[in-house]
Amino acid sequence: MGKKKQTHDFYHQLIEGLHEGVWLVDKHHNTTFVNQAMADLLGYEVADMLHKNIFKFMSEKESTVWKHLLIQYAKIKSYSRGLELLHKEGHGIYVRISLSPVFDEQDEYDGTVIGVVDDTDLRHQDHQLKLLSSAVEQSATLVVITNEMGMVQYVNPKFCELTGYAADEIIDQNIKILRSSSFKASELAEVWKVIVSGNAWQGEVSTKKKNGETFSSLMSISPIKNEQNEVINFVAVGEDITRLKDAQSRIEQLAYVDSLTGLANRVLFRDRIEQVLKNIKRSRFDAALLYLDLDQFKRINDSLGHDVGDALLMNVADRLRDCVRHQDTVARMGGDEFVILLTNIDGVAGATLVARKILQIMNKPIRLLSHEIIITPSIGITMAPADSLNADILLKNADLAMYRAKSQGRNNYQFFTDEMNAKATRHLEIENELRMALDKDQIEIYFQPQVSIKNRELVGVEALVRWNHPERGILSPDQFIQVAEETGLIITLGWKILKQSCIQWCTMKSKGLEIPKMAVNLSSRQFRDPNLLEMIQAIFDRTGFNPLNLELEITESLLMDDMEHAISVLKQLKDIGISISIDDFGTGYSSLSYLKRLPIDSLKVDRSFITDIPNDKDDIAITAAVIAMAHKLRLKVVAEGVETQAQLDFLQKNHCDIGQGYLFGKPMKLGDFLKHQ
Ligand code: C2E
Ligand code: CA
Ligand code: CA
Repeated sequence: MGKKKQTHDFYHQLIEGLHEGVWLVDKHHNTTFVNQAMADLLGYEVADMLHKNIFKFMSEKESTVWKHLLIQYAKIKSYSRGLELLHKEGHGIYVRISLSPVFDEQDEYDGTVIGVVDDTDLRHQDHQLKLLSSAVEQSATLVVITNEMGMVQYVNPKFCELTGYAADEIIDQNIKILRSSSFKASELAEVWKVIVSGNAWQGEVSTKKKNGETFSSLMSISPIKNEQNEVINFVAVGEDITRLKDAQSRIEQLAYVDSLTGLANRVLFRDRIEQVLKNIKRSRFDAALLYLDLDQFKRINDSLGHDVGDALLMNVADRLRDCVRHQDTVARMGGDEFVILLTNIDGVAGATLVARKILQIMNKPIRLLSHEIIITPSIGITMAPADSLNADILLKNADLAMYRAKSQGRNNYQFFTDEMNAKATRHLEIENELRMALDKDQIEIYFQPQVSIKNRELVGVEALVRWNHPERGILSPDQFIQVAEETGLIITLGWKILKQSCIQWCTMKSKGLEIPKMAVNLSSRQFRDPNLLEMIQAIFDRTGFNPLNLELEITESLLMDDMEHAISVLKQLKDIGISISIDDFGTGYSSLSYLKRLPIDSLKVDRSFITDIPNDKDDIAITAAVIAMAHKLRLKVVAEGVETQAQLDFLQKNHCDIGQGYLFGKPMKLGDFLKHQ
C-alpha cells in the first residue's frame, strides 16, 4: 500500500472525523489502519488493533464466511452486508460493512478498505429478539427452532419440561430423534415436503420423550425465510394435548359400552380378555369364559314386542351383573347373546358355581310391562389356561359348548371338554348327596392314635371324618371336603364333626379311656366363619367336653390370607383353653419365623417328609431341622404318617415329641379304637 501511506493530513482528519469506522487491511488481512471511531466501536485502543488479523475481531463462524468473501469477492467488486464483530469484552456488535478492494500500481490486489457502520437497526432487532425470546422462554407452549437441515438450534424451557431433554442435549441434534414410532417416517417426510417448500404445516404429532414415553402435541411448523426468500429456519410451536387426548379416549370408552344394557360391548370384552390372558400365566388361578344365549328369546320378542324384548335384555343384564364379582366382566355380544369373563376362579368348580347361580337367578319369573316372563339361558363354558390361551379359540369353544347346552334341552350349562363336564357333574352329585348325608347321619368319625415317641404312651387322637355313603361305601375326606368347602356345606359338616367327636370322646372317657388331647381339623372356611367361637362354645355346653382337651388343626395357608385376623381368632380360641396345631407343616409357606408371632402349641410335620425317611437325605435334614427349630420356639412336634420302625428310630433320635401313623394305628371307629387300646 506504499503510495497510499502518504496520505494528506486533510484526508487523515477527514477520516478521523467520521462517525463511521474505517478499517484498512493488507492482502493478508492484517490491519494496517483503523480510525478512532472503529476502535471505539469495538472497545479497543487504535494501537491494539494495528497489525492484527481482522478475523481476530470476528467470531469463528463469521470469520470462516468472511475469509471466503474477502478472498473471492473483495478483489472484484464492492460488497456490503451485515456482520457481527466481537467487542473487546466478548459480546457481538452488529455492523454493516462495505468493502472496496485496493490495487497497487501493477493492478494487483493489495488490500481492502472497509467502511464499518454501527447497525443500530440490527441492534434494535437484536433487542427485539431478546424480548421475543423471553416471551418464548416463558411460554406455556413448546418452541423449537431448527436450521434448514432440521438441526435443532433452540428449544424453550417448556420443551425441556415436556420432553425431559436438557437444552444442550438436544441442540445440534436432528429434530428426527423426537419422532415416536407411531408417527411414521413417511408422514414426517410429508410434513418436511410442505415446509421446505416454504409453507406452514399444522397437525397432531406424537413426540417421543427422552425416557421413551410419548406425548401428543398439536404442532404448527413455519419456515422462516431470509431476504433472498430462502428458507433458513423452521420454528415449531406446539401444545401438549395429552389431556385432551385422555378426554377423547374417555369419549371413545363410550363406544365400548352397549347402549341398551350398559354392559361392555364386544370390543371392550375383547380388550379385557386379552388383558386377563396376558396375566394368567403368572397366576395360579384360572379364568372361565361363559357364553350365554337366552332360550326362546325370539319368540318373546316377536309375540310381546320389542319394548318388552328390550326391557327383558336390560333386566337380564342386571341379573347377570349381580351374579359375578366386581373384577369379572359381563358383556353383550349382540342380540340375546352375552359373555361373562370370570377371573381368578378355582377351576371347574368355581365356574360351575357361577353358572349355577346364573341359572338359579334367571329361573325366577319377572314382571315386565305387565307381563310375567321366565327366560332361561343356555350356557357354554370354557376354561383358561386349560382349554386355550387364545381369545378367539376360547370364544369359539364357549360358543360350541353353548350349542351343546341348547341341544341338551336348554336351561343348563355345558363345559367345552367332556372331562370338565364329568368333573362338574361329579361335583354336583357330591354336593346334592352330601346335603342328604348331613340329614341322614352318614357322617362318621374315625379316631387315629397319637403316641409319645419317648414311651409310646397314648397322648392324643386325631378325629378324621368319613362319609358312609349308602352305595359307594366309606368315602375318605379327600373325596368330599373340597366340595363342602366350595359350597359352604363345610359349616354344617364341621359342626357335626366337632359335636360327634366331643360326644364320642366323652363316651371313651365314660369307658375309662381319658385321652389327654383330641385333635379336630378346621377348614379355612370354618376358620373365617364369624360364628366359629359361638359354635364351639355351644358344643362344649351341650356335650360337657372340656376345652382343655381339644386341639384344633389348621393349615398355614389359612393363616397367610389375613395374618392379623388369624392371630386375633387364635387368641380367642386359646383364651377358652383350646390348643392349636399347624397341620401339614412343610407343604405351604413353612416359615418358622411367622410362627413366632402366632399363639400355637404344636407343629405337624407333613407325611410327605416322613415317608422317605431314612432313604432321602433332604427329608432327613429338613425334618431334623424343623424339629430343632420348633423346639426353640417351644412348640411340640408331631410326625405324621409314621409307618416304619426306622422312621420311629429317626424321630426318637431327633427328639420328636409325638408320632401318628399306621405304625401306631390306623384311623378307627370308636368301637375299634376302644378294642385297639
Ligand atoms: P390330615 O389332617 O393330614 O390327616 C391325616 C391323614 O393321613 C388322614 O387321612 C389319615 O388317614 C392319613 N394317615 C394317617 N397315618 C397315616 C400313615 O401312617 N400312612 C398313610 N399313608 N396315611 C396316614 P384322611 O383321614 O383320609 O384325611 C385326609 C385329609 O382330610 C386330612 O389330612 C384332613 O386334611 C382332611 N380331613 C379329615 N377329617 C377332616 C375333618 O373333620 N374336617 C376337615 N376340615 N378336614 C378333614
Ligand atoms: Ca389333620
Ligand atoms: Ca396333616
